[in-house]
Amino acid sequence: MNILLLGSGGREHALAWKIAASPLADKIYCAPGNSGIAQEAECVALDIADHAAVIGFCKEKRIDFVVVGPEAPLCAGIVDDLELAGIKAFGPSRVAAQLEGSKGFTKDLCRANGIPTAAYERFTAAGPAKDYIRARGAPIVVKADGLAAGKGVVVAATVEEALAAIDTMFDGALGNAGTEVVIEECLTGEEASFFALCDGANAIPLATAQDHKRVFDGDKGPNTGGMGAYSPAPVMTEAMNRRVMDEIIMPTLHAMAAMGAPYKGVLYAGLMLTAQGPKLIEYNARFGDPECQVLMLRLMSDLLPALIAARDGVLRNFDLRWYPEVALTVVMAANGYPGNYARGSVIEGLTEAANVEGVEIFHAGTKAEGGRILANGGRVLNVCALGRTVAEAQARAYAAVDRIRWPGGFCRRDIGWRAVERERERNQRVSP
Ligand code: AMP
Repeated sequence: MNILLLGSGGREHALAWKIAASPLADKIYCAPGNSGIAQEAECVALDIADHAAVIGFCKEKRIDFVVVGPEAPLCAGIVDDLELAGIKAFGPSRVAAQLEGSKGFTKDLCRANGIPTAAYERFTAAGPAKDYIRARGAPIVVKADGLAAGKGVVVAATVEEALAAIDTMFDGALGNAGTEVVIEECLTGEEASFFALCDGANAIPLATAQDHKRVFDGDKGPNTGGMGAYSPAPVMTEAMNRRVMDEIIMPTLHAMAAMGAPYKGVLYAGLMLTAQGPKLIEYNARFGDPECQVLMLRLMSDLLPALIAARDGVLRNFDLRWYPEVALTVVMAANGYPGNYARGSVIEGLTEAANVEGVEIFHAGTKAEGGRILANGGRVLNVCALGRTVAEAQARAYAAVDRIRWPGGFCRRDIGWRAVERERERNQRVSP
């Protein structure tokens, strides 16, 4: 099969690496890709927002299957356009991708179908939104309705902070994403990510993961796209996974099918494990980044037939096998990220780093120039490792990080700390 992968981050490098391992894949293209992806696929300078250009490329290269990595093309309807042109594609339709593209859409779907989530109201004007905040008090959460690249959520500790968030959003700081807001109850508990592969009617759970969103050690500093992750999430027991499938994922699939917009693709549920049980914080319509990287390391089965089965609507009798090991990834970012950062600093030592046992390095924002690898983004590298324990995976990942010579970059030194602590406590109980 000829495959076209769309995207250019660490998620897409992990997908390209896994798809390249499939005996079904003959030729893999990636648009636009990055210098790490170029080791697995032929990178092509296509503008993926230009659907006609993508379709033209697929016809010219006889592409059999398109895998869409990021959310923006999904929300823009790339899968609808490809399928209309007779090209098979993995991912939700434009309407189904609203599960990520509109927080209000998802909240209304939850309310109508009894899916556990934070209590909320939707607003299209600042005045009533502020009245609601004053009436409810703090803490309270303010969210822009649309896609805001991770910048659309303010967890406000005070009423003043929430009111300021309303002003910022309605003043156009987030463009169209902020012309409607959702204001919701602040949930407490531990967060976890749950991934399910969906074919419109059926879903199979993938693995669970936890990520670190804050930029600095100890989960401090501003939010980022994610500074590291590990899989499985120790809080996600078998019983909890079952509840999430029964109470959240399957009712969502049924509701989407009933409205004539069956959901196909990866459904990524951000969860809060509250005292009352798991509650949905948000949906994403694609794999998480960097969660995808740890999932792909743990996936034993061939990914490609699973993606095709999801697209074809035949997941019912499908099964996936996973390595029991823990996978952990440390994100290396350019100094200054998530604020302003420079591009073009030189990265050395990647080959030595990749030689550490159990280690796989995925590129997120790099480019090759004159035989050197240069930083070309905010999040630049994903240093991933498998281990029998979280502590071992963590030690391996940091051993690799320490072989990378890149003065222009930094990483957190504590990825997985919560899981390592849990592991230590359990070991102490077992061997006093
Ligand atoms: P989201 O973009 O919706 O995933 O939100 C980003 C982060 O904000 C989440 O990962 C949570 O840490 C936090 N968050 C979002 N909604 C809530 C909520 N209702 N209660 C508490 N924290 C929340």
